[in-house]
Amino acid sequence: MNYLLISKELRSIAEKIEAEERISEEDALNLYRSKDLNAIGMIANAMRERRNGNYASYIHNRYINYSNVCVLSCQFCAFAAKKRDAHAFEYAIDEIVRVVSEALPLGITEVHMVGGLHPTLKKDWYLELLRRVRALDPDLHIKAFTAIEVRHFAQRIFRMPIRDTLELLREHGLGSITGGGAEIFDPVVRDTICHGKETAAEGLEVHRTWHQMGGRSTCTMLYGHVETLAHRVDHLRQLRQLQDETGGFTGFVPFAFEPQTTILAHIKPASAIEQLRNVAVSRIYLDNIDHLTAYWVSMGLPLAQISLSYGVDDLHGTILEEKIFHMAGATTPQQQTVAALEHAIREAGREPVQRDSHYGHLTPRQKRSTATPAPADAELACA
Ligand code: SF4
Repeated sequence: MNYLLISKELRSIAEKIEAEERISEEDALNLYRSKDLNAIGMIANAMRERRNGNYASYIHNRYINYSNVCVLSCQFCAFAAKKRDAHAFEYAIDEIVRVVSEALPLGITEVHMVGGLHPTLKKDWYLELLRRVRALDPDLHIKAFTAIEVRHFAQRIFRMPIRDTLELLREHGLGSITGGGAEIFDPVVRDTICHGKETAAEGLEVHRTWHQMGGRSTCTMLYGHVETLAHRVDHLRQLRQLQDETGGFTGFVPFAFEPQTTILAHIKPASAIEQLRNVAVSRIYLDNIDHLTAYWVSMGLPLAQISLSYGVDDLHGTILEEKIFHMAGATTPQQQTVAALEHAIREAGREPVQRDSHYGHLTPRQKRSTATPAPADAELACA
């Protein structure tokens, strides 16, 4: 690292990273408060290149939001609906199976399924969903359900302990759980933006249990709403602590809040500088999580591409159809092609590599066809 390019107040942090020492919460706060974005990026980049070389990965995946019907009404969420609402949707298993089977020849290696906390879908519905998607292709990785969905199943639907619920889901095809729903862990922030949602401890306990069962998951943070910088650091601290304990997180995926169509629409969206600073600080602080993903759906592909020099080593996936951020007002495309992701990575001076759901690099033999996704006819129709 060229210390001459790093402002005096950040040099001790740069020295710690060079010496492979862990930074403190106070250091993380100082990084968040610093205006020296390029220096923060340089420190994050040093850490990223030491860990992941010049590679930048992506996954060929298909998103499916099976329903937006939810018993909660989180203030930041424009996705959820009550059954009576005009924008409520709920897909039949046949429809989901059809869409996944149409995506398989395109080369997807993962299907990613999350939904609202549905009040009436039964245990058998979820198990049949997993079983039938699994039956389409035993090599397709099913990444599904947030920690809060798992708790909802366990407490209100399956009426079983968390561990037994996860075991049952795994027996029927679940490959990994998603990191969504973490928002910001601070209880006061949670009470403001997602009153009634699980606590940080409850969400982390689902991940802990899954990790203890040998499972892997990703972790997230939704920032840029009512939280302070100290709340972000506290959130990262709790993730780093659980990772020290279990080692089960494969990657971290921060999301900037999309306020446009939510009841928090008065909040200004996170700027490009804020988003770059956030990924860079996350990379530097989370020294025990191997991968950092730029979620292009919220960042936009151009900024996600730039973030490859600010600590990020993964551009997430092709996705094929995203609803949660787009219903909140995101104007990014609904999908990316493999060619577009690889082009973005190459243009940023990195070497593209297709990955699996645990960020492992795929060999040419493990890759499937990379045909261009079919746009319109792959849309789901409401059940
Ligand atoms: S964020 Fe999740 S739990 Fe909250 S209202 Fe939206 S769908 Fe429901």
